[in-house]
Amino acid sequence: MYRFYINNISNDYHYSELARVFLADDEFEVIGINMPGGRLPLREGSFIINRSGSSDRDEIKREFYRLLSDITGRESGWGTLTGVRPLKLAYEMLRESGSLSGMEKLLSERYLVSEEKISLLREIAEYQISVLNDDPSSVAGLYIGIPFCPTRCEYCAFASTVAPEEDIQEYFDNLLREISYAGSLAKEHGTVLESIYIGGGTPTTLNAEQLGIMIDAVSESFSVDPSDIEFTIEAGRPDTITADKLGVMKSHGISRISINPQSMKDETLRRIGRDHTAEDIRSGYRLASEYSFDVINADLIAGLPGEDEADFRDTLEEILTLGANNITIHTLSVKRGSRLRENDPEYYRRDTDKVAAMVGYARKRLREAGFVPYYIYRQKHQMGALENVGYCRPGKHSIYNIRIMEEKQTIIALGAGGIGKVYYPDEDRLERVANVNNYKVYNERFDEILARKNEYYQS
Ligand code: SF4
Repeated sequence: MYRFYINNISNDYHYSELARVFLADDEFEVIGINMPGGRLPLREGSFIINRSGSSDRDEIKREFYRLLSDITGRESGWGTLTGVRPLKLAYEMLRESGSLSGMEKLLSERYLVSEEKISLLREIAEYQISVLNDDPSSVAGLYIGIPFCPTRCEYCAFASTVAPEEDIQEYFDNLLREISYAGSLAKEHGTVLESIYIGGGTPTTLNAEQLGIMIDAVSESFSVDPSDIEFTIEAGRPDTITADKLGVMKSHGISRISINPQSMKDETLRRIGRDHTAEDIRSGYRLASEYSFDVINADLIAGLPGEDEADFRDTLEEILTLGANNITIHTLSVKRGSRLRENDPEYYRRDTDKVAAMVGYARKRLREAGFVPYYIYRQKHQMGALENVGYCRPGKHSIYNIRIMEEKQTIIALGAGGIGKVYYPDEDRLERVANVNNYKVYNERFDEILARKNEYYQS
């Protein structure tokens, strides 16, 4: 057990997060101390950081990072950064320095970010700057959660669940009322939507009729034409995709869907608890190709149990062949609440070099195939402390995905599972609007949840 005594800090959270990049939870303890000169009798395995008593948090983290790297013989491409939005920080560096090269210098010198990650951030920033010029705070995003799935994935930490049809119908009826009420408030306050995202869960757990009714409800309540706005519906699980659902979405003006394979290896799909085969994924893509959706997104995961680099490469190759034009490469995150975490809490700490190689391969292969990286985020307990990167063919990005990471826009969240946020541009501040994760709680406390919609308009 290592003991890290860090001098002159008020909170050990960020330092513990940094230690977790290198060490397991039970291998270290971070202890804040406050002693002039940093003198302390030390046992073996104990270290004092910040003997000089500096109050510069970045400087202390750099010293701590170097110590952790010396002890473990490892590096992290993200240097001292442990937050989930590295690009948001990069934009702050861009504003501070006034140039992309200044941003790069600060990321390297202040946060010890590697050249490889800096070039990734730069590429994403350049793409975003080239496609988004408007003020994001003048418009809003709308998220609608459908928290149902056909089975539960091994790594899932969402509140999404398998539910009987009558429960889904009750949820759906409440959701329509919420859409109508939120839409009337939006009209009253002149809110203009920039994007709509229906996620979950698996929205295509709803039947074709319900999907049509929901799209109509959104269009009427928020006065939008689905064909004139970025409107995405996740058809995540291929075993929920049918011709009539795709037909309803297409005829209602939806041009963007997700079909999320995660892997094209049957053994992996079984192992992670998805009740479908790779052939179902192929059929889903073939069927979707008949409806000419403008964007089809595919989520893949690097680091799934039992997979090696060749499996990951095969999956990526096949997804390119099937025609996805927007591909998100996730690194497996082993979150609290998932079965994987319960069964193997330290899974995310193993084979991290292999997973880094998968992620590096994806970047190279997708570039060769004409894709560009367009958004990025990180998660806790992610293998190798890596990242998730969204790639797209130029022009096929998702504005919703960019905005949610940028945190400069109000996101109205309806249903269970989403996180509503109100953005206050004058203060550059976001405030969360309380929501619920569990659909049963949503149904039981619906009137209270409906009343909370007013919180989006309190200033
Ligand atoms: S598809 Fe997504 S939401 Fe559904 S169980 Fe799997 S990880 Fe959870």
